[in-house]
Amino acid sequence: MNDHAPNSWEARAAQYALYGFTDLPSVRDRGTVVVTHGEGPYIFDTNGKKYLDSNSGLWNMVAGFDHKGLAEAAKAQYDRFPGYHAFFGRMSDQTVALSETLVNVSPFPRGKVFYTNSGSEANDTLVKMLWFLNRAEGRPQATKILTRKNGYHGVTAVSASMTGKPYNEVFGLPLDGFLHLTCPHYWREGRDGESEAEFTARLAAELDGVIDREGADTIAGFVAEPVMGAGGVIPPPEGYFQAVQAVLRRHGIPLISDEVICGFGRTGEIWGALTYDFMPDAIISSKNLTAGYFPMGAVILGPDLSDRMQAAIDEIEEFPHGFTASGHPVGCAVALKAIDVILNEGLMDRVREGAPRMQAGLSEIAGHPNIGELRGIGYMWALEAVRDRDTKTPFEAALSVSERIANTCTDHGLICRPLGQSVVLCPPFILTDAQMDEMFGKLDAALKQVFSEVA
Ligand code: PMP
Repeated sequence: MNDHAPNSWEARAAQYALYGFTDLPSVRDRGTVVVTHGEGPYIFDTNGKKYLDSNSGLWNMVAGFDHKGLAEAAKAQYDRFPGYHAFFGRMSDQTVALSETLVNVSPFPRGKVFYTNSGSEANDTLVKMLWFLNRAEGRPQATKILTRKNGYHGVTAVSASMTGKPYNEVFGLPLDGFLHLTCPHYWREGRDGESEAEFTARLAAELDGVIDREGADTIAGFVAEPVMGAGGVIPPPEGYFQAVQAVLRRHGIPLISDEVICGFGRTGEIWGALTYDFMPDAIISSKNLTAGYFPMGAVILGPDLSDRMQAAIDEIEEFPHGFTASGHPVGCAVALKAIDVILNEGLMDRVREGAPRMQAGLSEIAGHPNIGELRGIGYMWALEAVRDRDTKTPFEAALSVSERIANTCTDHGLICRPLGQSVVLCPPFILTDAQMDEMFGKLDAALKQVFSEVA
């Protein structure tokens, strides 16, 4: 047990804060890391300890923790016009400017944007849009949402229902009508002797079967992350989105790309859909959209869905939806700057240039016999720990191997994230080669230490 001084930051955190998504035994033993400031990819705690945050906060702080241009963009907008809504036919000029920019940088020839404060709310909003337009079009039964096991889409009641994680059972979720298909993880889900292409074909056939069973006219949409993030960094198997989209098109069901993590550079392209060469019907964006400098999410509808949505709104004369801070002018000004920094100041180029180095460094570390799989793309990677590499047997759950690895990394001044039996690395795009080497060194040392303890 940690025994911090009664009035310390750690003690006050434990007394006053409720922790979400936190491994409580670790916190009870180790206390809370209370963070005061950052520099580049580093954060500092109240004791002055410095950590390299190889997770960019929660995937989002891609420009690091002290980007002057982003802070200045926020300050300038706070001085000019510090807050407004987007209700009643009014919205800020920054909201208009960002909407135009988002449509222009989207893969769509035209489209429309709606704002939220988070990725969860963006997924929630998307589902409400589909329900709204299907009812307006005389198909009130078209409500079901298809996602995948292990997919992560958020924590509101709807987006948690889309999320394919068993932990949501503690809330009695998912709600009815949210169906989860097989996780597209070839290494874990592929059958003996099944090729990657055969695995893809099986998943497409499963989708087709579920649509036939449920009735295509009851399904509102299929939502997927191009690369599953919080599910453990799972890139799709060969040809996956092409095969899935062919099935969806045959049944007239929209494909929505949840780009909350992948969007704005994480895979080395602006959209994960571009990396995997498919054209979605809508995009969900958040996180990198503001480089983490303001809470914001967006639903970007492509031509078909925006036309249908506009027609439904024209008919009903109102879309009764929106958040007080939807399209917040400061958020929009920050997003405009973040998009400029990512696309025009070379941040995305650095992912493209750095990705082979990242892969090479992690491949060397993954030579350890207790690493079963290294997977990822761009600047999002996971190393999965196994007791036995040949049989892919995991470590006993009670050993909490990935938590131990992450805690050991933290001791060495490296933040990384345990996810299932994997450890995730998704650094800020500004990472220098020397900082990348520091990350490799600390990770390698932590892995060797933990594997020697649990062997
Ligand atoms: N979708 C995806 C793919 C995500 O990774 C996340 C957050 N990790 C969300 C949605 C939810 O976003 P938020 O936490 O901003 O609600």
